[in-house]
Amino acid sequence: MFSGMTQENPQTFDLAVIGAGPGGYPAAIKAAQKGLSVALIEAKEVGGTCLNRGCIPSKALIANAEAFQNIQHAELFGINVQGVTIDYDKMVQQKDKTVGNLRKGVETLISTNGIHLFRGYARFISPREIKITGPNAAIIHAEKTIIATGSEPRQIPAFPCDGNRIHDSTTLLEMKKLPKSLIVIGGGVIGCEFASLYNALGVQVTILEMLPKILSTECPEISQTLTQALTKKGIKIQTGIAVASVTNTGSSVKVELQGKEPLEAEIALVAVGRAINTSDIGLDKAGLLTNDQGFIPVNDKMETNVKGIYAIGDITSRWWLAHVATHQGIIAAENAARGEVRMHYNAIPSVIFTQPEAASVGLCLDKALEKGYQAVVGAFPFQALGKSQASQHTEGFAQIVIDKRTGQILGAQVVGYDAATLIAQMATAITNELTIECLTETIHAHPTLPEAWMEAGFLVNNSPLHLPPRPKRKS
Ligand code: NAD
Repeated sequence: MFSGMTQENPQTFDLAVIGAGPGGYPAAIKAAQKGLSVALIEAKEVGGTCLNRGCIPSKALIANAEAFQNIQHAELFGINVQGVTIDYDKMVQQKDKTVGNLRKGVETLISTNGIHLFRGYARFISPREIKITGPNAAIIHAEKTIIATGSEPRQIPAFPCDGNRIHDSTTLLEMKKLPKSLIVIGGGVIGCEFASLYNALGVQVTILEMLPKILSTECPEISQTLTQALTKKGIKIQTGIAVASVTNTGSSVKVELQGKEPLEAEIALVAVGRAINTSDIGLDKAGLLTNDQGFIPVNDKMETNVKGIYAIGDITSRWWLAHVATHQGIIAAENAARGEVRMHYNAIPSVIFTQPEAASVGLCLDKALEKGYQAVVGAFPFQALGKSQASQHTEGFAQIVIDKRTGQILGAQVVGYDAATLIAQMATAITNELTIECLTETIHAHPTLPEAWMEAGFLVNNSPLHLPPRPKRKS
């Protein structure tokens, strides 16, 4: 249990967790449930970027945009609606209310689990001591520490975000008025999600991406299908184009391009990646190492180079996803409480919340071939699925990658309505090393979207049910 209140006699805890985001607060809860006394230190709001400035507020606005789109397409369902307008200020209020409610919920979980929440900024002063500055200033002693400090939008001097006309993802979410036009710099996940959101709300959107394609880290089929779908919705996508600078002219933003004419819009979003929060937390005082990109190297138990100090979330790896941080947090907490559990990365689902959504888990075909599997893919179009036709959501496909030798499911990708929900089934399949027969022998309720996985499973074995058979090769 913690004791002592002065700097000469620091409060002592079994475990300190630095950062109360989706990595840190679940780690603190799990550790407290294992009987450890836990200090959780947070400089801003509990819930971190995901809850306050990322996943949740953006999904709240996306839900509004979807409702608007459904009404706009009501005539498809024989419903005539006229005079539909957007009250963006009200949408923003609703988003803030959702975030506020969820934040209160997290605060309740922290207190009901007996976790000592310190509000302030934490820096190591030694491997076992942390100095907190801010509202709850203190020095604490912790036998073990989990670092979960996350990341922030990367700031680039040539793209000076002012929160007025030049935004990062945080300030864009705070905007109270819809612009007429938006230039998105960077065609990664953040850029594409915001482009899709504001396009759905009637804003003229242009994406500028330096690389030859948007979503370049995704499987080629996802990148291609989303490029087509977003273009069809009216988003202008310019690839192979490097933005040199962005200026707020007072009445617009001027975006200078390398080797091309400048572009103008009412506002700009800079979405060119995120920077990790490791530079000012006293890593050297704790003897912690970082690699040349600033990440804190960890093993599969989430242990750093210093015994008793763990690191989780964006500061440790290329998996910049809230749910990866949460899982890593649970692993680190178990190990800090003398457990013996390890992180695995072979079945991490990821979702792009565009319209349509895209999601993937495991390996793409090319990655599976690179790894030496005898990989084959079966892709089923939603156009051929009863439920998709009935609900008028026929865009996209679901595909499965398997190893032909063993039938093991290696990966799955889906673009289409509710892809975010659909991917969960395949994450379970891959985590549990299921074969394609396990999937095709599972009875899927009809008519439902998950039938697309069963159909992709039949296709992968070249025995399609709801598509014509491929012509047999002449022997
Ligand atoms: P990103 O690195 O994924 O994409 C940034 C893009 O900007 C890249 O494609 C890059 O080529 C481009 N770019 C960089 N400089 C440029 C320039 N001068 N001109 C034009 N283009 C330029 O970064 P992000 O989209 O900001 O996302 C950050 C991280 O957060 C990612 O790892 C992402 O996966 C994660 N994230 C995930 C979700 C989700 O899972 N739904 C949501 C939000 C963020």
